[in-house]
Amino acid sequence: MNLHEYQGKDILGSFGVKVQRGMVADNPVKAVEAAKQLATETGTSWWVVKAQVHAGGRGKGGGVKLAKSLEDVENIANAMLGMMLVTPQTSKEGKKVNQILIAEDVYYPGESETSEFYMSVLLNRGVGRNMIMYSTEGGMDIESVADKTPHLIFTEEIDPATGLLPFQARKIAFNLGLSGKAFKEMTKFVTALYTAYAKSDASLFEINPVLKTSDDNILAVDAKVSLDDNALFRHKDYVEMRDIREENPIEVEAKAAGLNYVDLDGNVGCMVNGAGLAMSTMDLIKQSGGEPANFLDVGGTADAERVEKAFRIILKDDNVKAILVNIFGGIVRCDRVAQGIVDAYKNMGDAIKVPIIVRLEGTNAVEAKKLIDASGLDVISAIEFQEAADRVSEVLA
Ligand code: GDP
Ligand code: MN
Repeated sequence: MNLHEYQGKDILGSFGVKVQRGMVADNPVKAVEAAKQLATETGTSWWVVKAQVHAGGRGKGGGVKLAKSLEDVENIANAMLGMMLVTPQTSKEGKKVNQILIAEDVYYPGESETSEFYMSVLLNRGVGRNMIMYSTEGGMDIESVADKTPHLIFTEEIDPATGLLPFQARKIAFNLGLSGKAFKEMTKFVTALYTAYAKSDASLFEINPVLKTSDDNILAVDAKVSLDDNALFRHKDYVEMRDIREENPIEVEAKAAGLNYVDLDGNVGCMVNGAGLAMSTMDLIKQSGGEPANFLDVGGTADAERVEKAFRIILKDDNVKAILVNIFGGIVRCDRVAQGIVDAYKNMGDAIKVPIIVRLEGTNAVEAKKLIDASGLDVISAIEFQEAADRVSEVLA
């Protein structure tokens, strides 16, 4: 589950990570109220107004604006709320801005220069350990740093038995070129950041930029946070942070129906039981010249109702030109699934306008094929996996 910047900063704050302070607002009146309150609490007289959408690169798309007066705050809030924000990470339609974060300006001038660093905590699957990735080249997009100057990105692996050790936090602060107060602040920052990551069962905390202020404080100015869905049962308060407006509506509906569905870009809709079979079905579709339009695991109970729901969800994607149903009958009997397909097809009437190729193998596969062939419906049945994929490429040709 992905979070908004303001939610990520709330979590960071709760673990003692210093963050740029801010308040969220969904209308210009609240935005001005927030700015006034921040001025009282922090003494700031400038603010940044930041669009809250699940996409990065907002600065480049006009989603981060500096306000030098309350009037600026109001004007920016008016313009930003409700806009479709286009950034390098959104589609060309962009994402609707429902909320904005009013934050204190932390780039004020002072004794020393400000510096922007990059820091993230994530799992390195290659070694099975969490790691901290960091760079002096913060603020800009880290992908191009990785591309052009990879030697400027450092990593620090964390031993799960010991957690982050003090010398590692010091090493990071040292590699970032810090000394004195900023060095100490950075070690505290890193330590608290790693604790936040571990304790919140996150899969990613990406802070870009981490800012060294002109008075040598270290702050999180941005926060991109993904939480592990499988651990959300331990965090009831985080569950409420879900913003389904930011999620793919078809995926939200599928989830509510208990289907594992992931939207993809191709033209062949897939309905499969079991995640492994779904993956190999997608591979075979690709090998046969098609492109999977989705990943869909209907799970172990492929009854008529579920099959129908799955069809309806697949058909919401206009790119779908054919549907491949690939079910392996183990505990679930193929003839029951076949009956489910026939029933769904009848119930849905004219809704199904694309060819359906059905491959049922396993328990009662022969009976299932008979059922489908006898139904008189426009369903192509196959028993071999390759045969099914070939039928798909035929109908696409
Ligand atoms: P992103 O573009 O979506 O990654 O959004 P960020 O939160 O990282 O903000 C983008 C940029 O806005 C930062 O790299 C800063 O340069 C700038 N910015 C953020 N906060 C402030 C602030 O308080 N004052 C000023 N002057 N600039 C800021
Ligand atoms: Mn950023």
